[in-house]
Amino acid sequence: RLAKKEQSSVRVYDASHNPFNLRHLELYRDLKRALAADELQLYYQPQIDLKSGKVVSAEALMRWMHPDEGFISPGEFIPLAEQTGLITKLSRWALKRAIKQCAKWQVMQNSRVGVSVNLSCRCLVEPDLIDLISRLLSRYNLSGDYLTVEVTESLFMEKSEQVVEALNTLRKMGVKVAIDDFGTGYSSLSYLKTLPVDELKIDQAFIFPMANSKQDQMIVHSIVELGKSLGFSLLAEGVEDRVTGEILKEIGVHRVQGFHYARPMPIDHFCAWMGAAQFDRMTEAGGQ
Ligand code: C2E
Ligand code: MG
Ligand code: MG
Ligand code: MG
Repeated sequence: RLAKKEQSSVRVYDASHNPFNLRHLELYRDLKRALAADELQLYYQPQIDLKSGKVVSAEALMRWMHPDEGFISPGEFIPLAEQTGLITKLSRWALKRAIKQCAKWQVMQNSRVGVSVNLSCRCLVEPDLIDLISRLLSRYNLSGDYLTVEVTESLFMEKSEQVVEALNTLRKMGVKVAIDDFGTGYSSLSYLKTLPVDELKIDQAFIFPMANSKQDQMIVHSIVELGKSLGFSLLAEGVEDRVTGEILKEIGVHRVQGFHYARPMPIDHFCAWMGAAQFDRMTEAGGQ
């Protein structure tokens, strides 16, 4: 019995909880160089309006192609960047890239596709982050309402006054605020109504099982009903199959995002995909 207990406690030990483990130190060192070495990229995943079937925006998701280790998931390097403070630099880079790219879509493709950027807690309370966003919008001549910032619920628990102030300022510039991974945190909907928020992104954990679970459908349904009545826009992420998309449409979710529609893509794939999607719609409308 004792031996078994010991064994399991060994298995439970997780090196990633030790901030000084070697892999982390090496990754930290490499991540510091990654920006300058041009190893980071933004991938874009379409967000689709369920009523019109059109792509209305794209979420920018960071990718790191490490020279020796290959692709490293943001699930690994974003927490590391957050712990070490590098996230500030990464976020500034992502904002610049995404805003520049979005402005390009408006001009080159005459499209009205917006862009969503993920922002970590500590970035939002950086004193000059708001200035940076404002400067970038005017430098690239992009109207603020093309930009959405995605923040997580936990953000509001910490430093709430500073965060609320920052988000208020952003919204005055027309920038939209989305709560990412909604439903996994602690805030209640009634608490959110007092916060400067435009959109709820319902977490994938509720969406994945929906097609086979009445219970999950009911949970999503009630989030959508209450969210809508409080004036929020509703987006579901992690839609992996057609059936789930149809249920979400029936429930009244405004927008969807997920592998069923498209995976996150490097920018040239994204543009090609957009072109093809437009063509599909044209032939659908004009064909038969
Ligand atoms: P997130 O913002 O909640 O992004 C959604 C994640 O779900 C993305 O993972 C996306 O690729 C994945 N996804 C989208 N649709 C589906 C689907 O249908 N099925 C499945 N299984 N997955 C789907 P990714 O790109 O690995 O990013 C993971 C997380 O890393 C993000 O979660 C976000 O919290 C963080 N992250 C990514 N880029 C950035 C960034 O530029 N800044 C910050 N602060 N965080 C970022
Ligand atoms: Mg996100
Ligand atoms: Mg999410
Ligand atoms: Mg997430």
